[in-house]
Amino acid sequence: MQADLICVGNELLTGLIENSNTGFLARRLWSAGISVREACVVADNEQAIRVALEKALEESDLVILTGGLGPTDDDLTREAVAGALGLPLVLNQGWLKKMEQYFRNRGIKMPDNNRKQALVIKGSTLLENQRGTAPGALMESQGKTIVMLPGPPHELQMIFKQQVLPYLAANNQTGLTAVKTLKCIGIGESMLEEKIKALGKWELPPISYVSRGFEVDLQIKGSGEGEAASVSIAKAEQLLRSVLGDYIYGSNDDTLVSLAAELLTAKKMTLALAESCSGGLLSDLITDFPGSSKFYRGGLIAYNSVVKSDLLGVSKELLEKEGVVSAATALAMAAGIKKLLKADIAAGITGVAGPESDSAGKPVGLVCIAVLGPGISENRQLNLGGGRRAIKERSAQIALDMLRKILVKL
Ligand code: ATP
Ligand code: MG
Repeated sequence: MQADLICVGNELLTGLIENSNTGFLARRLWSAGISVREACVVADNEQAIRVALEKALEESDLVILTGGLGPTDDDLTREAVAGALGLPLVLNQGWLKKMEQYFRNRGIKMPDNNRKQALVIKGSTLLENQRGTAPGALMESQGKTIVMLPGPPHELQMIFKQQVLPYLAANNQTGLTAVKTLKCIGIGESMLEEKIKALGKWELPPISYVSRGFEVDLQIKGSGEGEAASVSIAKAEQLLRSVLGDYIYGSNDDTLVSLAAELLTAKKMTLALAESCSGGLLSDLITDFPGSSKFYRGGLIAYNSVVKSDLLGVSKELLEKEGVVSAATALAMAAGIKKLLKADIAAGITGVAGPESDSAGKPVGLVCIAVLGPGISENRQLNLGGGRRAIKERSAQIALDMLRKILVKL
């Protein structure tokens, strides 16, 4: 099955808002066996939306439009779709009541222009929006499926996952993709490719490299149909693991955070963090995981040396002798926060994010990370590049990977 995506919004064309809906939808559709033929962005203009829709309907079985379902005069998607299909808009009393309730709960009278959001194209199914006032809609027309989704990503994503994908699956519009993603960290794309090329004599199915920040995804596409495709993936995975070993940290939907979180939960261990140069980014990553309160006790951004010594108990002598950015300081920070927050495992991160070297002359990009667990500790000293933000992000990510590796051993 093939789909076309149409994202509506002047703000996307002026670059005020980055178009993230295309990426999200393309990824989700792709893993559901639906390939995206074309994705376009059009202005808040009824005629432009209509032209894009008519063209998409000529080519694809599924057309998804995003945005332009709001209450204001420049939100024109539903009018454009109704016009293209020659169908009237009718008032959906149920949604009107829900919207009135939504505003009552916030103690405000519903503005009149919101009534427009209860207008649905005759014959379409309303897709409830639990996070906003713009409902989505789904309809079948001449053997094609048309879906309209609100623009705000968190609204669109929830509706798509909970209502659109199940509908497509129930109507046999999704397919099985024989694809597996292996997630790699600690190695760049070109080195990965070199290692994989060394497998030369083996027949490998097509592999694509997707670089995401400091990680690389290897997507293996099975050769052949059905069972044969799965077998070719399994064989390729075995070969790739034999040359890449520890660089592969997981597969498909695994993330460094999800794996660390699963391990902490399974081992009933608690975590605490002392971050300096990463400025709380590791804590941010950890708390992105729903349910992190079960294992994450908390953290401290110990940015200033006084905080490192006064709150974490890193001795002034040590800071003086070894330096604020040193393996010993990272370990002492981890030990300090572990004790302070009574956690089972802790990490300490200290480094020079730049652009200037630190007062002791330690170079930009020098980062020391320590992870300390019961009877086990690990230290890494890194020389990172890529500018201040990249150094901060990379520090957090590497610390997370170290944490995951230690947890596997415990
Ligand atoms: P609402 O009732 O929230 O206005 P809507 O369907 O009318 O819903 P739009 O007005 O088109 O949505 O967009 C609302 C906001 O959603 C935009 O200002 C933007 O922040 C975000 N948004 C819209 N389209 C996209 C997109 N393709 N990618 C990322 N964000 C988007
Ligand atoms: Mg809009």
